Amino acid sequence: MSRRILIIEDEEAIADLERDYLELSGFSVKTSNDGADGLKEALRGEYDLIILDLMLPGVDGFEICKRVREVKDTPIILVSAKKDDIDKIRGLGLGADDYMTKPFSPSELVARVKAHVARYDRLISNEAEEDQEIEIRGLKINVAARRVWLNGEECSFTTKEFDLLTFLAGHPNHVYTKEDLFREIWGVECVGDAATVTVHIKKIREKIEYHTSHPQYIETIWGVGYRFKV
Ligand code: CA
Repeated sequence: MSRRILIIEDEEAIADLERDYLELSGFSVKTSNDGADGLKEALRGEYDLIILDLMLPGVDGFEICKRVREVKDTPIILVSAKKDDIDKIRGLGLGADDYMTKPFSPSELVARVKAHVARYDRLISNEAEEDQEIEIRGLKINVAARRVWLNGEECSFTTKEFDLLTFLAGHPNHVYTKEDLFREIWGVECVGDAATVTVHIKKIREKIEYHTSHPQYIETIWGVGYRFKV
């Protein structure tokens, strides 16, 4: 079965060009030329990857990326005409997997789409093997079900927060740099930096720590990174 790609792009000529190249490479492609419609499609449909333009009529790409990430893990490649947007994307920690500035070559786009689809496949198959439960001092994580309980009470996490928490808890007492963690959770070719990790650690702590300034689970090793204490 061919892999499904959603293109959300208001410039129809660009959307069509991207679709043609992707179809030639065997992908099945749907295009949407409007933000609101694109968001609906991204939330409703089952796609293997989303190519998302930032400047869109109706709902913009930042908002779409954020809304999709709240519920889905689908790889997202953000596309923008402005180089400056890359800083904004990093600062927001939107959870996009990659970023491209227009104009770009369609073959470069196809190469990145293939790489991200393959990376996502590996991620999914790793998760399928990790049918286990982690339990440390009142914190229980069911990896397969992607659920977390703190002293019996369930806590909800975004996809990346869960991945980060599970990775750290699955390798207790090991110190990881922010760069290590970024590579591990977001992937080598991802857009973003260590600041994204800091933001996510802060959010996780707010959910599982009694005192975020004196964390009992995820400890900050100053000048190095983080470790999960047992
Ligand atoms: Ca646009």
